Amino acid sequence: SVFKRVDQVEEKVKSYLTITRDQAIEKAEEVDRKIASGEKIGPLEGIPVAIKDNMCTEGVRTTCASKILYNFVPPYTATVVEKVHRAGMVMAGKTNMDEFAMGSSTENSGFQLTRNPWDLERVPGGSSGGSASAVAAGEAIISLGSDTGGSIRQPASFCGVVGLKPTYGAVSRYGLVAFASSLDQIGPFTRDVTDMAQMLNVICGHDPMDSTSANVQQSDYTQFLVNDIKGLKIGVPREYMADGIDPGVKERMKEAMGKLTELGAWVEETSMPHTDYAMPAYYLIATAEASSNLARYDGVRYGLRVEDAEDVVDMFMRSRSQGFGTEVKRRIMLGTYSLSAGYYDAYYLKALKVRTLIKRDFDRAFEKYDLLLSPASPSTAFKIGEMVNDPIQMYLQDICTIPVNLAGIPAVSIPCGLVNNLPVGLQFMGRAFDEGTLLRAAYTLE
Ligand code: GLN
Repeated sequence: SVFKRVDQVEEKVKSYLTITRDQAIEKAEEVDRKIASGEKIGPLEGIPVAIKDNMCTEGVRTTCASKILYNFVPPYTATVVEKVHRAGMVMAGKTNMDEFAMGSSTENSGFQLTRNPWDLERVPGGSSGGSASAVAAGEAIISLGSDTGGSIRQPASFCGVVGLKPTYGAVSRYGLVAFASSLDQIGPFTRDVTDMAQMLNVICGHDPMDSTSANVQQSDYTQFLVNDIKGLKIGVPREYMADGIDPGVKERMKEAMGKLTELGAWVEETSMPHTDYAMPAYYLIATAEASSNLARYDGVRYGLRVEDAEDVVDMFMRSRSQGFGTEVKRRIMLGTYSLSAGYYDAYYLKALKVRTLIKRDFDRAFEKYDLLLSPASPSTAFKIGEMVNDPIQMYLQDICTIPVNLAGIPAVSIPCGLVNNLPVGLQFMGRAFDEGTLLRAAYTLE
C-alpha cells in the first residue's frame, strides 16, 4: 500500500504536512470488503489520493503551510474533496506547499522542506511541491494541487509526473483557500494520462457554491484516449523557446515535435507577441488579489492570535507579522501598493489591459491551431537554496505557465525524457473547455 512507501521514504521526501492514515486504512478496508463480496466498484474507488493543504477538509487541519493557520481545522469540506470522497477515493493526507501557494519550489513552506524524489538535493517545484513529490515517490497514486501561475505544471515537470490545470471554472474552487481568485484553479497530478482522464471525470463539473464555476456539459474524458492525432494542428510559439530556456530542455522539445509530426500531427512554429508582458501583468494581478484575499487573517477569525497584545490594532499587527512568512508579506505589500489610490490606473488597470492582449494572442492562435506546445518550465529541478533569496529569479520559473492562467485556458505538463537524469516536462495548451484534446495529444506521447 502507499503507506508502506510513506514509511520508507517520507522521512526523506517530506511530502505531507498531515497524514490521515487511520481514516484511510478504514476506508480502504471497506472497499476490500466490497470487492470480496463481489460488489462492483467505481474506477477510482479505494485509490489513495493526497490533497494539497489549501483545500478545506472538515475535521482535518488545513494550514496552507502558513504559521498563521497552524491550528485551523475547517468546519466544512471543499467541493472537490467531497467529489473525491463520493468517487470512493481514500484521502491519504494533506501535502506541503509554498505558503499560500506563493512560490515555485515549496521552500516558502512555513513548516518543512520537501525534497525532489529524483534527487534529494533538489526542490520538487512549487507551489504544489508536496502533491507532485507524493505521486512521484509512490506515497499517493493521485494527488490534487492548485495552479495560479504554474503551481501544478511546473512541479509535475520537476517530478516527472502528469499535471493538468483545467480551464478556469471547470473545477469548483469552493473550499480552496483563495490566493488570486481570478487565476486559481484546482487540478490533478497522476502517473499517466489514463489516470488523469479518470480523475477529471471525478472533479470537473458545475457547483452552485462557486459563482465562477462554469455550467458546461461534461464529457467522459476517457473517450479521448484514442492514440490518434492525425491531422491535429499544433503551434509552437517561438517566444516560449527563447534564450532563457535550458538547451537540454529545448532538445527534448525538438524530439517531441519530431515524434508528433511522425504520428501525423501538423507542427509549426508560430508567434505570441505579448508573451513577454505576461510575467509583469501576472505579478500585479496576483499580488493585488492576494493582498485583498489575505486581509481576512487578522487573528480574530482564524488561526494564530498573539497573546498579551496592547489593544486590537496591536493584536492585528503582531499576529500578521508573526504569522506570515517573508514572501507572503512581500506580496501583500506589492499588491496593496498597486491597488492604492493614485497607482491603480498606472499598475493594476494597465495589467488588466495587458491580460486582455494576452488572451487575444491565444484566441488568434486557436483560430489556426488545436493545441500549442512549449516547455512546462525553463529548466529541470534546481538545487535547494539556489533561488530562495532571489525572488525575481524564482518568479521567472513560471514564464512558460503564467500566460495560460491569465487567459483561463487549460494546459497539461507531461514527462518527456530526461536531462542529466532529471525529468523534463512538456506543456500542451488548449482551447477553453477542450481538456479532451490535451489528453488526446498527451496520450500519444506516452
Ligand atoms: N510561482 C507562482 C507564484 O509564486 C505561481 C504560484 C501558483 O501557481 N500558485 O505566484
